[in-house]
Amino acid sequence: MACPASCILPRVQTETEYSEAGSAVADFIAEARTVGRDKALERVDEEHRPFCEAIDLDAIPAGAESEVALAWDYRTEVGRVLGRKLSRQYPPTAPTELKGTADRIGVDGATVVVEDDKTGLKYRPARESWQLRALALYGARTVGASGARVAMAYRRDDGNAYYDRAEFDALDLADFASELRQLVGRIDRDARIFKAGGVPDLRPSEDTCRFCECVVYCPAHTALARSMLSDLCVVHDHLDALTAEQAADVWERVKMVRKLVLAVEEGVRQVARAIPGGIRLPSGKVLRETDTSREEVDAVIAGRVIVRLFGEKVANAAITTSTSKEGIERALREYLKTDQGQGRKLAPVKRDTLEAIRSAGGLQRTPSIGVREVKDR
Ligand code: SF4
Repeated sequence: MACPASCILPRVQTETEYSEAGSAVADFIAEARTVGRDKALERVDEEHRPFCEAIDLDAIPAGAESEVALAWDYRTEVGRVLGRKLSRQYPPTAPTELKGTADRIGVDGATVVVEDDKTGLKYRPARESWQLRALALYGARTVGASGARVAMAYRRDDGNAYYDRAEFDALDLADFASELRQLVGRIDRDARIFKAGGVPDLRPSEDTCRFCECVVYCPAHTALARSMLSDLCVVHDHLDALTAEQAADVWERVKMVRKLVLAVEEGVRQVARAIPGGIRLPSGKVLRETDTSREEVDAVIAGRVIVRLFGEKVANAAITTSTSKEGIERALREYLKTDQGQGRKLAPVKRDTLEAIRSAGGLQRTPSIGVREVKDR
């Protein structure tokens, strides 16, 4: 909301970290209501336990729901629930409806309660957050509440949590509604400018650009990246003379240039796909869509055949097996859908399985040391 252009420019969809942590939190809250906090905590996956432990259950009204998609019509002022656990895949809405998803929403008397989970980084304060203001408004108009309590639940890298809370009364909500209506007007105007080849109203800031999905197409950043291309050659010749501050600046710019290069590369691939025969390159090669499928060997069937033909020793040399925590989790998810697995929860089953594998000596940690971005503790 702080940058109207982010509603107009093309965007590149990014994956959110929400899904796994979000469903662990949702399961924990639902179970805590029925079996009690301590028992529910025991069932939470180790990775998400410290965060769930820090959740203020008393602040969440009974009956609150998780990942609820809401819409609010800025003409009629009516709010409605679009669905639950949609993973931001919203159903079609009216052109006059704005939409958003509340990580948790409940009702406490005449007050709607909205919580949004955030990972370690610091966002705009809850009171000033347009995401929370909008969700408070959409939620209040949906349930007929006159006020709202909102919170950002921060989840840090070490799993712990803290809250940034705010309260909005009926006048605040009316102000938000009026500002959102004005924003829609500005967005319409900017969309016309953009369609005519102009530059929409860009309001870059660390807060708004950090997770903006338009960043690759945003003139505020692409201009910077373009100028950086020539700067990169200079930087390359003076890498050993960079101060820590300059290195940090170069790092951010390099990330931007890389995103831009990837977006341009994907654009060229699309052109190559669309041109019959592809694009002839200066190197003499042709860039075109090719079938890269190859024959896969089914390890189980191949193993049986080789044992029959040459015996166990040759089969063991020919067949390798591999797995991963993700592969085990996928298999367990499927198992829990079967008759034997029904009624059991993924988190404890996964924890017990990994513990059994660890006890049998089947888990080893491979050191992996490298320079990468991590959250500051
Ligand atoms: S990247 Fe920043 S300036 Fe550009 S559209 Fe997104 S929020 Fe606005």
